[in-house]
Amino acid sequence: MELSAKIIKIAVDGYSSCGKSTLARQLAQKLGYIYIDSGAMYRAVTLFALQNNHIGQEFFNKKGLIDNLNKIAIHFEHDNNFNPVTFLNNHNVENEIRQISVSSFVSEVSAVAEVRERMVSLQRKLSENNGVVMDGRDIGTVVFPNAELKLFITADIDIRAKRRFDELIMQNNDIDYETVKQNLVQRDNYDKSRETSPLRQAKDAILIDNSNLTKTEQLSIALKLAKKVINEN
Ligand code: C5P
Repeated sequence: MELSAKIIKIAVDGYSSCGKSTLARQLAQKLGYIYIDSGAMYRAVTLFALQNNHIGQEFFNKKGLIDNLNKIAIHFEHDNNFNPVTFLNNHNVENEIRQISVSSFVSEVSAVAEVRERMVSLQRKLSENNGVVMDGRDIGTVVFPNAELKLFITADIDIRAKRRFDELIMQNNDIDYETVKQNLVQRDNYDKSRETSPLRQAKDAILIDNSNLTKTEQLSIALKLAKKVINEN
């Protein structure tokens, strides 16, 4: 009797703009798994908070946001190239949530325990009965503490900032390198030091520093690790 392949959960955590999403998406594609960008969810909540004046330059009305969390519906679709597209209350917000205006507030919003509770529950629901690759900050520690494979991705801060800067410039954003770098440093600090589900490398996560790796090399390392786990009995 032929045994069907084991279906696993793969957690990809790490610092801001270290190529987690690219790796997670490519890995999911190779394995025929679903890919979930948990950061996109926190970005969508942040966009909602900005649109509804729950957060701004000088204020954060946490209670206002918490009281309105039930008005937030997030779902994903795919574009023609099978890239995931994020929807907030049935509006395509994929481009908007990547802007620096959202990036500047997302760490504050995602530090709110009630926001995290809701997102984690949605992340688990979307993953039910599926082979899944999910990227974020707390996937291996909180969302899937029993994930069969956990990767923790990092890269030198200047390399990460340059990659993110190039990406934003390609999308015609008018932004300077230092602003991008500062945003990454700030988000990393905030994400590492928050009380609820801080960014940590899970004890059983495998560290990949991709500072000097191409995307293809990184994928090949991760794919080898995944196949080893999938083929184990
Ligand atoms: O992954 P991305 O950079 O798009 O995530 C945006 C922000 O969302 C992070 O800086 C972090 O504050 C928050 N986040 C989180 N937990 C996750 C994913 C993202 O707190 N699982």
